Amino acid sequence: MAGKRLILMGPPGGGKGTQAKRLQERYKIVQLSTGDMLRAAIAAGTPVGLQAKSVMDAGKLVSDDILIAMIDARVDEADCANGFILDGFPRTIPQAEGLDRMLAKKGLKLDAAIEVRVPDERLLERLTGRFTCAKCGEGYHDKFKQPKKPGVCDVCGGTEFSRRSDDKAETVKTRLAAYHQQTAPLLPFYEAKGVLKVVDGDRDMDLVAADLERVLGL
Ligand code: AMP
Repeated sequence: MAGKRLILMGPPGGGKGTQAKRLQERYKIVQLSTGDMLRAAIAAGTPVGLQAKSVMDAGKLVSDDILIAMIDARVDEADCANGFILDGFPRTIPQAEGLDRMLAKKGLKLDAAIEVRVPDERLLERLTGRFTCAKCGEGYHDKFKQPKKPGVCDVCGGTEFSRRSDDKAETVKTRLAAYHQQTAPLLPFYEAKGVLKVVDGDRDMDLVAADLERVLGL
């Protein structure tokens, strides 16, 4: 199968996480979400979590060194042998350069960097309306995807839901600014390497998923 080591890029709320989860389920390529890893570190109270919490709550980016070390260690785990989808990493040019060095050292090659493109005006609405099942993590949205039975998770029947603390309108604005200033410059970086592919993320998620499979030749 083509396309085993992938980067999913795009603005916060652009649907990277949703698409990465679908690829993971369908093709058994593990999703490595640095946001999820940092939230787990915060929940576990690790030194990295303690350092990351206030930065994340402010909508800013956690330091490159922490992120590079985190991914470096994670990629060596057995479940990554069949490939991985980086979701939310790299987010800066130094992280992308760090990833290059790391992959070269491990003798691995990047197959594709995919931009899920969504216009800014959609993102605020997408981010501030989202919530997840506290038990299984299934994602929902106030406007676009309510559970079929109000208050009950479609997947696991759970009745507790949670919202990310950084999905508040003020924080979302800082996250979008960080994307434009620090992460968008990665698009020409990967284009120059000949691995950039773009999908229109401003559509129904099934259509985005189909397009993603098409550009990846899956
Ligand atoms: P996400 O779940 O991808 O939206 O990430 C949530 C937050 O985690 C971001 O706003 C950052 O504060 C932090 N974060 C996640 N990935 C990275 C990264 N690659 N570099 C720096 N900060 C990150």
